[in-house]
Amino acid sequence: MTAESDLIILRQAPEIHLKAPGTRRHFTRILQRNLRRALEDVPHRLATAQGRLLLRTAERERALEILPRVFGLSTFSPVVAEVEPELEAIVDGVRRHFTEAVRGRTYAVRCKRQGTKRVSATRIEREAGAALNGPGKVNLDAPDVTVRIDLQEDRAWLFSERRRGAGGLPLGVQGRTLVLLSGGFDSAVAAWYMMRRGTTADFVFCNLGGATHEAMVAAIARRLAGDWAHGTRPRLYVVNFEAVVEDLRANVPGDMWQIVLKRLMYRAAEAVAARSGAEALVTGEALSQVSSQTLSNLQTIDAVATLPVLRPLIGFDKQEITDRARAIGTFELCERVPEFCALSEQPPLVESRTSRIERAEAALDPAILQQAIDAVCERDPLAVDDGPDGVEGEGEGEGIFVDRIPEGATVIDCQPPEAYRRWHWPGAENHPADTLLQAFADWPADREYVLYCQRGSNSAVIAERMQRAGFRARAFRGGLNRLKRQEASPLADPAQG
Ligand code: ATP
Ligand code: MG
Repeated sequence: MTAESDLIILRQAPEIHLKAPGTRRHFTRILQRNLRRALEDVPHRLATAQGRLLLRTAERERALEILPRVFGLSTFSPVVAEVEPELEAIVDGVRRHFTEAVRGRTYAVRCKRQGTKRVSATRIEREAGAALNGPGKVNLDAPDVTVRIDLQEDRAWLFSERRRGAGGLPLGVQGRTLVLLSGGFDSAVAAWYMMRRGTTADFVFCNLGGATHEAMVAAIARRLAGDWAHGTRPRLYVVNFEAVVEDLRANVPGDMWQIVLKRLMYRAAEAVAARSGAEALVTGEALSQVSSQTLSNLQTIDAVATLPVLRPLIGFDKQEITDRARAIGTFELCERVPEFCALSEQPPLVESRTSRIERAEAALDPAILQQAIDAVCERDPLAVDDGPDGVEGEGEGEGIFVDRIPEGATVIDCQPPEAYRRWHWPGAENHPADTLLQAFADWPADREYVLYCQRGSNSAVIAERMQRAGFRARAFRGGLNRLKRQEASPLADPAQG
C-alpha cells in the first residue's frame, strides 16, 4: 500500500484533556515546542485540531521513528489517504487503499464524524465495509484490521494504524529534578519515569571509577538526553569521588561503606541541586532489591537530604526494570557498567542506625567532600563524544584496551575464585576485582599487566587506576568470552571474532 498522505494524527494523553482549559493550553503549547525540537531535522508543519495535533511531513518514516519518544502523546496514526468528505469518494478511497490490507483477513470499518452533518457515520461504515467484503471478511468484535475514517468538514482521513506513544506528560511542565545516575539499570530507568511525568531532569554522577566509568555513564546520559529529552537540555554533573572513597575506606568499617557512601553522594547531590535549581533528588532504589535498600537504610540515607528524594522505582521488581531499560535503550549501555559499590567484601548492614552511622562518619574529613563538590564538572551529554562504545578515546596514549595478550605480559584474572577455577587464561594470576584496588600498589612496576574480567569493564577501570599509579596495565577488550575464543584459535583476528 503506498502512502498518499503526508499527514500523521497525534493524540495527546487523555490526562491532558482532563486539565482545566488554561493548564491544557499550557501543556499543549509545551508539547508542540517539544515536538518541534524533536523534529528539528525533519521538515514538517504542526497544527492543532479538536484537541489533536496534525503533523505534516514529507519524511514520514523518520517522523514515525521519533514520535514514540515524545512524552505526552498517547497514540498517533499515519493517515493513508485524504479524500473528499462525500460518501462515494470515501467508499472509493477505502476500496483503493485497503483492499490489499484486508485480503484473507477479518476487518471492521469505523467512522468518526467531526461537526459535519452531511453523511451519517453508520451509513459510511456500512457502505465502505461492503466495498471490502470478498477480499476480507467482516468481524466487528475482533477484527485483524480496523479501517478508520475520520470525517471532517472539508475532508475525510482514511487510516488504520494506531501506534502507541510514550504517554505521560510533556517534558518541561513539571519543574526540575536532579537524578543520581550511577551507570546501573535502575537510575537510568528512574530518570525516564520522572521525565515521563513532565519533569526536566539533570544528572549527577559521583565518579568512583575514573575516566572509563565516567565515559560509560556519559553514554547513558547521552542516550536519555538525545532520545527522550526533546525540548529540554539535560546537564550531566560529575563529582569526582575518588578521594572521598579513599577517606571512607581508610576510616569507616566496611559494613558501613555502602550507607555512608550513599549519604556522601546525597550531600554532593544536594550541593549540585542548589546550583542547578532542582527541586527534588531522584534515585533508582527499589524497596528490598539489595540489602542497602531496606526501609531502615533508606531512612538513614534520607536523613542527610533536605530536598524530597523521589524514587519512582520503589515498587518495581528487577524484571520490570530491565524490561523497561530495554525499551528505552539504556539496557545495553548499563549492562557493561561494573558495580562499584561492591568493592567492599563485607556484606552491608541490613539495618542501620542513624546514630551509629553518624558516629562512623565523624571519622571522615568533611573538607574532602567539600573539595570534590567545589570541583564539580558540568557537561552537556549531547556534546561529549566518547566513541562507538562509550569508552574509546578516553584513555589516551597507550590506551586502556588490548585485543590480544602480549608476549611476556603478566595476566591478571579479576573474577571471583570460583569462576577462576572453572576457567582461566593459562598462567593467569587470580586477583578478584574487589581486592585488586588495594593489592596492586605492592606489585613490581617493571612488568606489563593485562587484566581481564567477565565483561571487560571492571578490568578496564582497574587498569586505568593502575596506569595512573604508574603501571603498564591494560584490559583485555570484550572480557571472558572473547578471550576464550582467542585461546581456542590464537591466530584468528580478534576483530573478526
Ligand atoms: P542503579 O542500578 O541505579 O545503580 P542499584 O539498585 O544498583 O541502582 P545502588 O547501587 O544501591 O542501587 O544505588 C542506589 C541509587 O543511588 C542509584 O539508583 C542511584 O540513583 C544512586 N547512586 C548509586 N551510585 C551512584 C553514583 N556513583 N553516582 C550517582 N548516584 C549513584
Ligand atoms: Mg548500582
